[in-house]
Amino acid sequence: MPTDSYNWRLDMPLLHLENLRVSYPQLNDRSLTWAVDNVSLSLAAGERLGLVGESGSGKSTVGRAIMRLLPTGSRVEGDICFDGKSVLALSPTELRAYRGEVVGLVFQDPMTRLNPVMSIGEHCIEMVRAHEPHLSRHQAKQRAVSTLEAVKIPKSRWHQYPHEFSGGMRQRVAIALALLLNPRVVIADEPTTSLDVTVSAQILQELTRLCHERQMALLLISHDLAMIADYCDRIAVMTEGKLVETGTTQTVFTQPQHDYTRQLLRSALHLHNADMSSFSATVATAQSSKPHVTAESSSPKPLLRLTNLHQHFTLEINPLERLLSRQDTTIRAVDGISLDLYAGETLGLVGESGCGKSTLCRTILHLLRPTAGTVEFLGQNLTRLSRRQLQRQRRHLQMVFQDPRACLNPI
Ligand code: ADP
Ligand code: MG
Repeated sequence: MPTDSYNWRLDMPLLHLENLRVSYPQLNDRSLTWAVDNVSLSLAAGERLGLVGESGSGKSTVGRAIMRLLPTGSRVEGDICFDGKSVLALSPTELRAYRGEVVGLVFQDPMTRLNPVMSIGEHCIEMVRAHEPHLSRHQAKQRAVSTLEAVKIPKSRWHQYPHEFSGGMRQRVAIALALLLNPRVVIADEPTTSLDVTVSAQILQELTRLCHERQMALLLISHDLAMIADYCDRIAVMTEGKLVETGTTQTVFTQPQHDYTRQLLRSALHLHNADMSSFSATVATAQSSKPHVTAESSSPKPLLRLTNLHQHFTLEINPLERLLSRQDTTIRAVDGISLDLYAGETLGLVGESGCGKSTLCRTILHLLRPTAGTVEFLGQNLTRLSRRQLQRQRRHLQMVFQDPRACLNPI
């Protein structure tokens, strides 16, 4: 190959969008609207590009178009090139290779993508073997175990099912699944939306470190400008389907060119401050309401009382292994929690992902029977109730789920 053309290929962006326009199937043909409108964008190997903009601005649609995951009947104009080849013109076989081996994806909402009846280990093996059928089961497992370890999921969790993982851990499993095939581009669409600050930072650090080590390009899609700035070399700003600004993180932050970028920057700063003040207000309410309740009424009854509540899970290993292994296979998700909640009180339960917050809530509602301890609601011990009595009580105890899509009917 002549040197010139070789260099030319090296200098070429790995991924390039050329005047991309996308429109979803429309009910009414006369009012064609473009979810993505004339977007041109490049991503070089090993580069981390952040795509920001408010909800509905078309960011996920860009991600879906790159992955060729748009619903049938969508209209696509312009071009998407990967490694000098048009992605829109790939044959079905090429497309399969492109999706699996070339572009990995971290899903916005992993629970809806993970199969609830397949263990995490099976998910990994299936993913590797679907794309690299020549590997033996043993080789596939070795690769999977080390990838899971890279995202800090220990081998002991191999046989567990998605619902046995916390939200943050599921997100890490999704990252492992994306990295398993050593992709060259990772598209991460809001990878940490439902996570708390510490876990979200850990995950993004891991993701960016792994991308850097393996020279994978990262397209990080988020509405959170401050987060993007922490992890990306370059930023692209979208609004109403259009790309209004691209530049290095430093330039976009210090010299934003477009009004919309300035507005995003201002609201990012404002949100940050507002978060802090509402947080201190909540803490203040919680602190002030306690003495108020105890001081004014002689013996107020708590609405909800937890006494030494435990929720333990045992890892499923065979009995022989359990006898031989000295290792403790119990996960103490909730370990001796006692607290009172009074009428009108708002109690904030904080802690990093995986520390047991959601399990505690499920145990309070008796969606999981506690391993030990009691839950009293209006003085009645829920642990002793029959199924029917419990059902009646549950009407008074409601849970708002972390992941609203998992409880909304898609049709
Ligand atoms: P973002 O990721 O920036 O929040 P999206 O790419 O999800 O934005 O959405 C861009 C526009 O496309 C929105 O107006 C949205 O309502 C529309 N849209 C997204 N998904 C679909 C779909 N499956 N069918 C029809 N319209 C859609
Ligand atoms: Mg989106």
